[in-house]
Amino acid sequence: MRVRVVGAGVVGLTSALCLAQAGHQVEVVAATTGNGTTSSVAAALWYPYRAYPRAEVTRWSATTYQVLRGLTADPSSGVRMRSGRELFRQRTSDPWWRDAVPELGRVAVERLPPGYVDGYELRVPVVDMAVHLPWLLGKLAAVGVVLRVGQVDDLAAAFEGVDAVVNCTGLASRRLLHDETLTPVRGQVVVVAQFGLSEWFLDQNDPRQLVYVVPRNDTVLLGGTAEEGDEGLDVQPATSAAILERCTELVPALGQARILSHRVGLRPGRPSVRLETEVTDHGPVVHCYGHGGAGVTLSYGCAEDVAALVSGLS
Ligand SMILES: Cc1cc2nc3c(=O)[nH]c(=O)nc-3n(C[C@H](O)[C@H](O)[C@H](O)COP(=O)(O)OP(=O)(O)OC[C@H]3O[C@@H](n4cnc5c(N)ncnc54)[C@H](O)[C@@H]3O)c2cc1C
Repeated sequence: MRVRVVGAGVVGLTSALCLAQAGHQVEVVAATTGNGTTSSVAAALWYPYRAYPRAEVTRWSATTYQVLRGLTADPSSGVRMRSGRELFRQRTSDPWWRDAVPELGRVAVERLPPGYVDGYELRVPVVDMAVHLPWLLGKLAAVGVVLRVGQVDDLAAAFEGVDAVVNCTGLASRRLLHDETLTPVRGQVVVVAQFGLSEWFLDQNDPRQLVYVVPRNDTVLLGGTAEEGDEGLDVQPATSAAILERCTELVPALGQARILSHRVGLRPGRPSVRLETEVTDHGPVVHCYGHGGAGVTLSYGCAEDVAALVSGLS
C-alpha cells in the first residue's frame, strides 16, 4: 500500500520504518523534525511512565525492550543497555509492568542512599535521542522512505496519492482531531556534560517533584517535572535550580557537572494510547498517539501494531 505517515517524532519514524519493512511504500510528512520534536527532549530511559492501558503498555514496552536491546549491537543507533536504580521512601511491591522486563532485582540495603528504604534495580535500554532520531532518518532514507517537511491542517488532505494515512502527531492531535482527552504534561530538564556516569537513577516519590538522572553517550539528562495541563514552553530558571538541587542530593558528583542546556517538552498525556483504525470518507486513518511519558518505551511495540493494522487493510 502507499502510506503517508504524519509526524516525525519517535512514534512516526518507528512506524514508518516498520511499515517500509513490511513492504509498504511510505512517505513521512511532518511540521518539525529532530530537535523540533518532543521526542528529542525525552530522557529516553526505557520506563513505562504515564501511559495507559496497563496491559497494552506492558506488551508494547516488552516488544520495544527487545528491539532496543537488539539495536545495541549497532553503536551508531545511540542505544545502550544501562543498569539503574528506582528508589522508594516506603516498601513497594513489584511494578505493574514487571512482565515487560526479563529481570528486576531489589536494591541491597547498603546501596540505598540516605532516606530510601526500598528500590528496584534493573538493566534497561537508554536511547540517546540526539543520535537515535538521525539514525532513524538514515534508516528510512536507505529503504526509500521520503521525508517532507510540511504542516497538515486536515487529515483529509493527507490522502492525496496514498491509500492510507497514519497519524503520529502526538499532542497536536488535540487540535488536528479536536481530541480533548489529550492533555499536555510539561517536562523541564537540564542537560549536563558526561562526567563518567554509567548508572541511571529515578525517584518518583520525592514530595517536591520527579527526580531522575539519566546518562547518555556525551551528556547526562537531569529531571524533572510533570506539570499536567501546563503548556508553557519557556525554561523556568527556578525550576532548573530545583532540578539541579534534587538531582545533586541523589548523585553528589553532579555538583561539579558542566551545564550544557535547559529544555522543555510537552508529553502527550491521554487516558489511553490511541492505536486504532478509523474509516473516513477519504480512506483509512491509523491513529497512533497519546503515549504520555513513555513514547520511546512504547515506540517499536506500537510501530509493529501500526504496520499490522495497515497490512490488514489490503
Ligand atoms: C521531559 C521529558 C522526558 C521524557 N522522558 C521519557 C523517557 O525517559 N522515556 C520515554 O519513553 N518517554 C519519555 N518522554 C515522553 C516522550 O518524549 C513522548 O511520549 C514522545 O516523544 C511522543 O512521541 P510522538 O512521536 O508521539 O510525538 P512528537 O515527538 O511530539 O512528534 C510529533 C510529530 O508530529 C508532527 N506534527 C504534529 N502536528 C502536525 C501537523 N498538523 N502536520 C504535520 N506534522 C505535525 C510534529 O512536527 C512532530 O514531527 C519524555 C518527555 C518529556 C517531555
